[in-house]
Amino acid sequence: MKVQKINNALFVQGKSNYVIVKNAHHKYFCLELTKTNNDKWITVKPHGEEEKGRHLKLEGDETPKEAMKRQWGVDVDKKKQLQPEKRSEKSVTTEKSESRISDIIKNDKNLRKIEKEIMTLEHEEGIIFDKDGNVLEKIGGEKHRVIVNEEILRKMNNKIFTHNHPSGNVFSSDDLFSGFAKASLRELRAVTPDGTVYSLKPMEGSNIKKLLPEFEQTEKKALRTFKESVDRKFKFGMIDLEERKKILYEDCNKYVNDKLVKMFREKSKDFGFEFKEYKQND
Ligand SMILES: [Zn+2]
Repeated sequence: MKVQKINNALFVQGKSNYVIVKNAHHKYFCLELTKTNNDKWITVKPHGEEEKGRHLKLEGDETPKEAMKRQWGVDVDKKKQLQPEKRSEKSVTTEKSESRISDIIKNDKNLRKIEKEIMTLEHEEGIIFDKDGNVLEKIGGEKHRVIVNEEILRKMNNKIFTHNHPSGNVFSSDDLFSGFAKASLRELRAVTPDGTVYSLKPMEGSNIKKLLPEFEQTEKKALRTFKESVDRKFKFGMIDLEERKKILYEDCNKYVNDKLVKMFREKSKDFGFEFKEYKQND
């Protein structure tokens, strides 16, 4: 089974169908390619009205990637080539001197208070704090992501960034890439609607270049395993077609997210990161 990552969506190609797993900051699910006679359709979420997905017919032998480019002008390869921006010498110097300061926030009341305010929002909000828990910048987000531009990235250096995940999930690969490859955060946090706060802090010798591939491997493997186990149940008659469809759509996210949380718990240290989980009321 082949897995392709295209423009933030993961395409898992099965033997006879495409299942699209959208990582839309970032709820995972499997959707099947609908076949109408010989036509092949893909559904790309969360676009379209009420985010029910936008349907796109594949023409000829084109791949979903080619179809997306034809229809929406999405140049996936160009997007992939974007390299992390080189930071100015000045900011590097500042980071070094400030990193000696203890990174324990003595009073994180303000942080927790704001996380409580944003945890149940249906769209994402991001907030940059200094090491003492003072708000430096608020960034209003779209439903599935917080837009982080170059200016914001510069402001993030050596700071704490928190945001809410309406999906209930742990960090996404975009969070890790923006926070630790494009910028260099002191701490990355995400709060979910049930009040769970995930925290990731780089320690000495942290290596995002190794953590990211581990994340992506875990994500792909979980998606594959999930899909294959559902298919096996269907093959042996344990579930019918409708149940299969429902499980693929509804249960995928929890399965993949649990595997990712497990990866963070067990492996963050190997890559020089400290991973913690709190409950809002701890
Ligand atoms: Zn995020």
